[in-house]
Amino acid sequence: MFINHLAHEMKQEESMAVALLSETEISQRSMAEEDPNGNEHGAAAHSTLPRWGPQHAGARQLAELYSPGKRLQEWICVILCLALFIVNLSFLLLNFSTVHIYKIIFGIVTGVVTADFASGMVHWAADTWGSVDIPIIGKAFIRPFREHHIDPTAITRHDFIETNGDNCMITILPLAHMAYKFLSYPPDALAESYPWECFVFALAVFVTMTNQIHKWSHSYFGLPRWVTLLQDCHLVLPRKHHRIHHVSPHETYYCITTGWLNYPLDRVGFWRKTEWLIERLTGQKPRSDDLAWAKKTG
Ligand SMILES: [Zn+2]
Ligand SMILES: [Zn+2]
Repeated sequence: MFINHLAHEMKQEESMAVALLSETEISQRSMAEEDPNGNEHGAAAHSTLPRWGPQHAGARQLAELYSPGKRLQEWICVILCLALFIVNLSFLLLNFSTVHIYKIIFGIVTGVVTADFASGMVHWAADTWGSVDIPIIGKAFIRPFREHHIDPTAITRHDFIETNGDNCMITILPLAHMAYKFLSYPPDALAESYPWECFVFALAVFVTMTNQIHKWSHSYFGLPRWVTLLQDCHLVLPRKHHRIHHVSPHETYYCITTGWLNYPLDRVGFWRKTEWLIERLTGQKPRSDDLAWAKKTG
């Protein structure tokens, strides 16, 4: 028990240390995204060992598992989701009033923070537990996370549909429920629940945008000026900030929407403590599937 506890403490210190690495150390230990062909990065460029990237055997195998059925599901979700966003935004603008302005601002900020936390929880869960062999969800939802660690720039080659399909699916039901409320509730009930709808809407916007924001954080070429401006203001996940997650074995800085919660969660050891609890309850070892994919050579 004591040994266990000690090991746990040491793990925690290691993970905190990743967040405190210098910029050079982070770029040496993660994939060189501004130099995907490895032409400039010293030792890594001359090594014959398999490096992170599309040529990695595991990455090739994972990319082949993307099926036409999955593609159709993504198209349907993107179209439904965008339509619901337009409808709800119109209702929100039509019903806007400054009466509850402070509650509205609070609702929007809380919505953005909640989305960041949710992105961290989902990312951590998919990175840490389960395997690509689990029926249905393995290939559809865990595969992209495994692929992303061994080929981080694959996301920059995904088009709009592949990038955003899954997250659009998550927000369809809450957005449909919101549209139903705007269509059926009396005006006084709508005025009362308006700040709550702002919270749900901001949460939905950022949850839906998470993968797009994540893709931007891996794009070192051709980003529009307004995107790099949002990154520089830390309103969306900045590139250098996300790089900290991509230091193997990928065990901290899981939040990928704004990244605001990464430092505090790392500081309090949130991920290690939660893993310790789950390992105690289920006996599962964290990151075992992710490590198996990372070591794949043939
Ligand atoms: Zn990850
Ligand atoms: Zn990433």
